[in-house]
Amino acid sequence: MTIASSAEPRLRRIVVAGGGTAGWMAAAAIARTMGRAVELTLVESDAIGTIGVGESTIPPLVNYNRLLGINEAEFMRATQATFKLGIAFEGWKEVGHSYFHSFGITGKDHWSAGFQHFWLAGRERGHDAPYDEYCLELKAAMQGKFAHLPDNAMNYAYQLDSTLYARFLRAMAEADGAKRIEGKIARVELNGESGHVAALVLENGSRIEGDLFLDCTGFRALLIEDALHAGHDDWTHYLPCDSAIAIQTESVGPAFPYTKAIAHDAGWRWRIPLQHRTGNGLVYCSRYLDRDAALERLLGTVEGQTLTKPNFLKFGAGARRRQWHRNVVAIGLSGGFMEPLESTSIHLIQRAVLRLIRMMPLREISDRDIAEFNEQQHADMLQIRDFLILHYKATERRDSAFWRYCGDMEIPDTLVQKIELFRETGRVFRKNEELFAENSWVQVMMGQGIMPHAYHPIAEKLNDDELARLLETLREQVSKTVAGLPAHAAYVERYCGAARAAAA
Ligand code: FAD
Repeated sequence: MTIASSAEPRLRRIVVAGGGTAGWMAAAAIARTMGRAVELTLVESDAIGTIGVGESTIPPLVNYNRLLGINEAEFMRATQATFKLGIAFEGWKEVGHSYFHSFGITGKDHWSAGFQHFWLAGRERGHDAPYDEYCLELKAAMQGKFAHLPDNAMNYAYQLDSTLYARFLRAMAEADGAKRIEGKIARVELNGESGHVAALVLENGSRIEGDLFLDCTGFRALLIEDALHAGHDDWTHYLPCDSAIAIQTESVGPAFPYTKAIAHDAGWRWRIPLQHRTGNGLVYCSRYLDRDAALERLLGTVEGQTLTKPNFLKFGAGARRRQWHRNVVAIGLSGGFMEPLESTSIHLIQRAVLRLIRMMPLREISDRDIAEFNEQQHADMLQIRDFLILHYKATERRDSAFWRYCGDMEIPDTLVQKIELFRETGRVFRKNEELFAENSWVQVMMGQGIMPHAYHPIAEKLNDDELARLLETLREQVSKTVAGLPAHAAYVERYCGAARAAAA
């Protein structure tokens, strides 16, 4: 085996363009992991600012922070975070109906068949307890309770202020040696021979050279698209919402440990309780609702005094065709965006950053790494895309033109297979490292009204008494554990109360 000569220059200079959640998540992780093996520079422009939304997360962020050695209570205090146990979906299947997508495991799976098979068999034998009754996280969320449990028995994520998160990560990255430059990128300079990005030229004329560039410039995609034309796949026909208005309000009542996604006749709205305020937003499709009506609708539904001016956002569902192209890696919104319904954007940032660190080049960029990175990243996005489409397609709502469009639209074959397999057999298979596991698909499919016509024959192995005992024991375990949990708001206050810390 030959290793390239140590005399050959190392690929050392990493330049991060943009300092939103993506830029600082990337900078903090690379600085902490790679240390002095790289020279890390981040350029951002206060004049341009960040998108200013992105408050709801999913459980893998807990691990990301652990990986970076972040103290959880400190991080939650700094970002005014609360715990999140899932998402309550209201009005998605039909008006007046609601269901919960929790982060937990429902019941107990057998290796051959998920718990839903046993629950379905139970239903056939007269057990009428809802599927929800068997999920700890779901029951705790609905009762506004939370605690860390031994062996991480309660699966959770965070609801946080993303601007504060970026600030927190910036302090970490700078302490770990990352250099920050304030300035506006005016031009991206290419190497005439290789076509690689050679430098970022700022408005004040300074040049920032690099070997590897991370495009974290948000929807602008200054490097990956404007300079390198990596291409874009459009998914707006599957995910038609293209606009949002976000606004922050004062909290009314204690923060609940979950995000609300409430459907309306042309999209949905979110409600995310943090320690010091509540995040609200209305997501809609501009073909069916105009901006003024959307604002009126949002303002008419928020609770509590508004704290900010409305933040109007436009977007289109889709993904950059090549997420890594030449010496540029797109991370964050520059790589693509699917609406925030299942809080997957920050997660995609995390996946891209960790993937890139695993594939960090030594002396030159390998086309094999690029191909691998792009394939893995693309697979993540397609799987998430299908999961999001499910929420729109599997609806019984026909009360507006928007919902009629969603109910009637064509969907990808991959999603048809998933839905029809579940409908016919009750089975869900997780492909590769798919983000949403069986539990998520089952909760959302049944929540949206897709009920299996059959279950796994293994459930027939249990006689009536055995099945009754199994179901009863699992249900009792959940309700006993939930009864012993403290209120979420009180737990947050004790564990990481930001207001108290500020006053102290
Ligand atoms: P940005 O925040 O836009 O940052 C871009 C950076 O690039 C800024 O620092 C800017 O100053 C810099 N920049 C741009 N141009 C230049 C230039 N010329 N010179 C210098 N610097 C420049 N995600 C979730 O996970 N959960 C959610 O609940 C969620 N909700 C969302 C709701 C909506 C309506 C939208 C649109 C998105 C939501 N997201 C959510 C996505 C989330 O906001 C983003 O994934 C996240 O904030 C990362 O953004 P970013 O850093 O890529 O881009």
